Amino acid sequence: MRAQQVRAGFVELYGTEPEGVWSAPGRVNLIGEHTDYNDGFVMPFALPHTAVAAVSRRDDGVLRLHSADVDGGVVELRLDELTPESDRDWTAYPAGVVWALREAGHPVTGADIHLGSTVPSGAGLSSSAALEVVVALALNDLYELGLQRWQLARLCQRAENVYVGAPTGIMDQTASACCEDGHALFLDTRDLSQKQIPFDLAAEGMRLLVVDTQVKHSHSEGEYGKRRAGCERGAALLGVDALRDIPYADLDAALARLGDDEEAVRLVRHVVTEDERVEKVVDLLKSGETRAIGPVLVAGHASLRDDFRISCPELDLVVDTAMSAGALGSRMTGGGFGGSAIVLADVADVDTVTKAVEEAFAAAGFTAPRVFEAVPSPGARRLV
Ligand code: ADP
Ligand code: MG
Repeated sequence: MRAQQVRAGFVELYGTEPEGVWSAPGRVNLIGEHTDYNDGFVMPFALPHTAVAAVSRRDDGVLRLHSADVDGGVVELRLDELTPESDRDWTAYPAGVVWALREAGHPVTGADIHLGSTVPSGAGLSSSAALEVVVALALNDLYELGLQRWQLARLCQRAENVYVGAPTGIMDQTASACCEDGHALFLDTRDLSQKQIPFDLAAEGMRLLVVDTQVKHSHSEGEYGKRRAGCERGAALLGVDALRDIPYADLDAALARLGDDEEAVRLVRHVVTEDERVEKVVDLLKSGETRAIGPVLVAGHASLRDDFRISCPELDLVVDTAMSAGALGSRMTGGGFGGSAIVLADVADVDTVTKAVEEAFAAAGFTAPRVFEAVPSPGARRLV
């Protein structure tokens, strides 16, 4: 249905049929927060919400871009004039992908692109990665570049880091490119090795809700940079390449070495315990003890709130309210300072929990949250 809509939009704009239509999903991270730039573990799964792009090749060095979700006409760029950090609007994401492909020596000679996305933007659900990955996959197919999914993810990360100028880890793009229907992706961000872990909550009578708080506190980007720099400093103090290299069993000794460096202690403790929590969740899911992941999610939230200090009143309110209303687990997800939280609940409790969160937000005078169910969905793919 959406493939047809986007195809029709392309025809209306450019006057010809597109060569194909592709989709790439947003993602939600089950567990493993702020570990991806520490070479650690993450465990995202793909959302049913996707960016869909209709694309054709061009051979004249021109890139034409249009989003159904943004006011304004077709943006036309020349490939030989693409320069990092020069585009300040949404076009930087698809243009950055084309730039990264060409930088890596791939013979992309132009494209017409029309896209539309149902991934909520700026909600911590990776609408940006969905945009990048859908374009990368389309060009990989059309230009027969033969790149593997993880390679596309790396190029998309480079587009976002260097071209857009946003310092993000590798999780979002890998999730969008590599996730599979009905599975969560256990990803080692050091070497991008991955395992698909069956994650079928419906079969076990549970649901996972995403609560988009609809807030984004303005200092979030600066704080992300500070946490990242702080983690690098912690690793340097401990003489390791990345905090991933501190085994959980050695955590106490590592913290003792940091002495009264309170800032380093808190950051190191979060990252090392968070990697441990990811492995625990993987073990529990593999052994069919899905309900038991609830307390691990809650412990992850406490660590992000108290040690990493990136939660906010809205996210804490979701977690506290959901747990009081009978949820099995809950935690903030994504970068922090707003965005979304996840809630794991038995089917029978979903309505009660949702209502409790909505009422708590109203009572606190917060903007009403957007609550939806997240079903583990397919990764990027060709639709037409
Ligand atoms: P997140 O990835 O968490 O949603 P980001 O700030 O990384 O948040 O990315 C959001 C940006 O991605 C938007 O500001 C916009 O530039 C771009 N974007 C997202 N969805 C669309 C869309 N449908 N059309 C055009 N640009 C989009
Ligand atoms: Mg993003």
